Amino acid sequence: MKTHPAFTHHAPGGVVVPLVLDSPHSGTEYPPDFGAAQPMQALRQAEDSFVDELYGDAPKHGATLIAARFPRSYIDPNRSFLDIDTSLLDAPWPGPAQASRKTQLGIGLIWRVMDSGEPIYSRKLSVDEVKRRITGYHQPYQKAVQQALDAAHQHFGVVYHVNCHSMPAVSSRVSEEGPGKPRADFVLGDRDGTTCSPDFTGLVAGTLKGMGYDVKVNDPYKGVELVRAFSDPAANRHSLQIEVNRRLYMDERTREKSAGFDELRDRLDRLVRVIAHYAANQGSHACAGGHDHAHHGHDHGHHHHDHGHDHAHGHDHDHPHKH
Ligand SMILES: [Zn+2]
Repeated sequence: MKTHPAFTHHAPGGVVVPLVLDSPHSGTEYPPDFGAAQPMQALRQAEDSFVDELYGDAPKHGATLIAARFPRSYIDPNRSFLDIDTSLLDAPWPGPAQASRKTQLGIGLIWRVMDSGEPIYSRKLSVDEVKRRITGYHQPYQKAVQQALDAAHQHFGVVYHVNCHSMPAVSSRVSEEGPGKPRADFVLGDRDGTTCSPDFTGLVAGTLKGMGYDVKVNDPYKGVELVRAFSDPAANRHSLQIEVNRRLYMDERTREKSAGFDELRDRLDRLVRVIAHYAANQGSHACAGGHDHAHHGHDHGHHHHDHGHDHAHGHDHDHPHKH
């Protein structure tokens, strides 16, 4: 495990597969220079609590897991660094700025308001402190995810990226769909089919539905910056956002885990196992074209394994790569 003030990087254990998970919104380390006017209890409403823990065993299946340590209310790593709300600043922004719809809603790179609509600050922010948030937290996080994806893609010729989030049980007033709408158990986002192959979205949706969950795709969450910026399905770079409903695993008022946490964690671990297996198969096909994997220093046992059957079945089995 590598740590940086901005993120924790969990390297894959055992046989590596071309799969990278990232949890950009589960961070709970509030930097001392935040200077917010809201109490901690209110700021914490923005956390995708425990999402890094829900996927915590992903490295056991050969995946890389990267989790932000800072909270998204401080700076949101799932935004472009251009998405600056200049109305928050005490001086003109010296660099390029391109406010998106998210900034209009008050939840761009640096949030202006909480879900409740309450302003986060009772002061203006200096250009320097915003720059520090970008260079100290936002950029290192995005770079860590990008480097993990690039490394896997270079090695396997393909990479699957799962961008992991959680959502409130009911939509808030800053939601695109308006307040008070109950949400599905899971919402998958591939930006209307542009960030990964339909196969991959179908695999994840089908596996979750097979566990009895209701799953929606691109409704209301389509995926934001991380799946947009790092995906290129034509070049075998596939990114999918997964939003899990917080009512399945926590009390949103106390922010404590609920009785459902362990079961959800087990099921997400099964999901990751299915995805890891799928990713390994795609990678082996791409690699079969030329490289000799003996030079990579680890044994790609999957070349000798029969992958003809469907591993999305219900029974438990040994991880197929542990030969
Ligand atoms: Zn999130």
